[in-house]
Amino acid sequence: MLITTPHGFKLSINLPMAEKHYQKNQLPPYAPTQLYDVTKYENVPDTFRSHEQNVVDYLVGVRDGLGMWIDLTANQHLSFEVAAVASIQGINALTALRTGTALEQYRHSCPLHRKSFHRNRYCSDCGFEWPAQNYLYSECGRSSPMWLDGFREKGGNGNPGAKTRQFVFTSDTSRGVATNLIGSHRSYNISIAFYKGNSKQRPSHMTTRGSEPGVEILSRAYSKGLEIAAGAEIDQDVAQDPHPVDRYSTVLDIVRLHYVDEAYLQQFIAPQQYGEGPLKNVPVGHPGSSHKTY
Ligand SMILES: [Zn+2]
Repeated sequence: MLITTPHGFKLSINLPMAEKHYQKNQLPPYAPTQLYDVTKYENVPDTFRSHEQNVVDYLVGVRDGLGMWIDLTANQHLSFEVAAVASIQGINALTALRTGTALEQYRHSCPLHRKSFHRNRYCSDCGFEWPAQNYLYSECGRSSPMWLDGFREKGGNGNPGAKTRQFVFTSDTSRGVATNLIGSHRSYNISIAFYKGNSKQRPSHMTTRGSEPGVEILSRAYSKGLEIAAGAEIDQDVAQDPHPVDRYSTVLDIVRLHYVDEAYLQQFIAPQQYGEGPLKNVPVGHPGSSHKTY
């Protein structure tokens, strides 16, 4: 299910079963899931209504053992450039830093140690190569489309050896990435912040995933207090944005996806029952009918 934000950005979420092991050159399959706009359901508790500027809230049903990938590729066909920051329980998926919705580039020095990078953005104190930026962008070319399967683990920045670990919902709290990195500061949602760049003459080329869509549609099941862990290794990297970060607007839309177990989800989306008003005892229905018509 593809949603469109107030400013026209696009997003869909896939919830395939978590991968058991690394599969070379193979990304997890499509498994599109339903997202529920909280403003359309009266029974959704206020805790899922952010009341913040630019934020649109959605619910998604999950369960232990599901993987997740975020599909932003529809933004590559818009008439303007798009940048998007993904935050998983409060952790940036590419940097594992707690940078919120801010767009950041890392080109000269380590954001943690402020030391100059060696070649290929290597920080000797961190012992690894930083990504070029903390967001996805629409002009990324065919090699790394605008989709995100997990937490970036390591990689050579544009080198095919880059590795990501799949987003996996788990009831094992000790495996949660945010649990480990920020503890009680974590949230139980996924947030995607969208920014607009320049207008485009031509939309970018489409790249597709190998598998067919819609084999396994999962928006049910589900347990409480699920965390998002770093699962099986996946070949994935994000290309370096060649443009300066000030090319983009201020943040225009933030989609906040609250993940909940299915039992709760069903309660929240159940239709409200209304009593009939003054017409209760009046014969109604189309002319000539002795019965109520609906
Ligand atoms: Zn460092």
